[in-house]
Amino acid sequence: MEQPPHVLIFPLPMQGPLNATLKLAELLCLSGLHITFLLTDHIHARLLRHSNILTRIQSYPSFRIRTIPDGLPENHPRGGDSYLELFESLRTKTPPLFKQLLQSGTPISCVIADGVLGFTFDVANEIGIPIFDVRTLSPACLWIFFSLPNLIHSRELPFEGGDLDVMVKGVSGMERYLRRRDLPSFCRSGDLDNPSIRFYQTETIHNPRACGLILNTFEELDAPILSEMRSICPNIYTIGPLHAHLKAKLAAASSPLPAFSNSLWEEDRSCLTWLDSQPLKSVLYVSFGSLAIVNKDQLMEFWHGLVNSGQRFLWVMRPDSAVGESRIPVELSQGTKERGYIVGWAPQEEVLAHPAVGGFLTHSGWNSMLESIHEGVPMICWPYFVDQQINSRLVEEEWKLGFDMKDICDRSVIEERIRNVMEKRKDELSKSVDHMANLAKRSLSEGGSSYSHLERLIQDIKTRVDNSSRDEVL
Ligand code: UDP
Repeated sequence: MEQPPHVLIFPLPMQGPLNATLKLAELLCLSGLHITFLLTDHIHARLLRHSNILTRIQSYPSFRIRTIPDGLPENHPRGGDSYLELFESLRTKTPPLFKQLLQSGTPISCVIADGVLGFTFDVANEIGIPIFDVRTLSPACLWIFFSLPNLIHSRELPFEGGDLDVMVKGVSGMERYLRRRDLPSFCRSGDLDNPSIRFYQTETIHNPRACGLILNTFEELDAPILSEMRSICPNIYTIGPLHAHLKAKLAAASSPLPAFSNSLWEEDRSCLTWLDSQPLKSVLYVSFGSLAIVNKDQLMEFWHGLVNSGQRFLWVMRPDSAVGESRIPVELSQGTKERGYIVGWAPQEEVLAHPAVGGFLTHSGWNSMLESIHEGVPMICWPYFVDQQINSRLVEEEWKLGFDMKDICDRSVIEERIRNVMEKRKDELSKSVDHMANLAKRSLSEGGSSYSHLERLIQDIKTRVDNSSRDEVL
């Protein structure tokens, strides 16, 4: 009997990309494909410590995990302020190991790798294995990366002068709303030799040459940007929101699987019990994701803003997220005791889906945004880096799903935005968030855009694999 295609998935070794690609892996498994999921040793060890991933993958006989070193010393922080060191280490040290891995063990018939790991494209091509790219950041940001050469050519980069409100014209389709301040923050360096500018230009070039580009979005959310992107990258599969897509498929197959965590920190599930005792849509959920670092002054501004708003809040304070010692004023500890709950890491998907949650103060990471959009939760965005600057602009200006608090960290502004989302402008926002949540859900149902793109992806993987094995025989 002919074996199904064996797909190796290589995600970026970070929490957000890992969440999205693990869902993709499960979706492909459910369609009968065999999966090898490639993790760095560091991420693998943390997953084993904090998640129930092994129990989960046992439900799929055709799902295996393999590991590879990331080349960094074990005590390297691998945090938001050093992510380029991780990318650089992978780029320079991993290719020979990756090649060896593709050529050993059960034959791999197709690769899906994060499109920022450009070397995977070269290695797969060299040994004749079809490769699809997956990008787990927002399509809008990816489109800005594609447009970096254009911005440099038109002299919009580097910026002249410090006015961040100047409109940017060199990213087609975004002329109406894109300001300098909405570009990825590394564009503010004023230097074309900035390592991030150089990195994102070179590591994006090969994306259009892969068999296809898989994106975690749905057509109805990103239509104008996708139509621009298809002019240079014609084969795009929009199959998101991936977390909800997987849930929908499991529900349709009536195969409830045990609650699953793929967290790199220990989830504190007590916050769900706390939420159970709060009134409907009364709680603001606060989280800045897995990489953002908040300094002690910013931490104090947020805390005062939250307590002064008089609203209930659930706040994720990652143990490694705040820099500097803070003495906590009595009014803050008192206000938190009365109306707040703080955890080190939350089961975020479940939190956002909880009926007590009525708003989300977020760093605008793409996974967090999709999770919020799907649940119809309005957002206050305080972007930190990379795609978050443009994501937050889209939330306020294009999608009307909340407010952009970019470059502002002031207790009175924070308080005012919280009151707006939770009280004053709640009804107005709820129309647009409910509409977008419905579109997201519809895209996942039979015949919907994400549903159909996933079917097409699976079919295309099968066809590519058939063709390349036929070429081998000839
Ligand atoms: N997340 C979580 N618990 C938390 C905070 C975040 O499970 O307490 C998850 C969240 O659901 C999302 C991911 O971590 O899937 C963060 O990815 P995102 O793209 O939003 O931001 P990043 O961490 O990459 O900046």
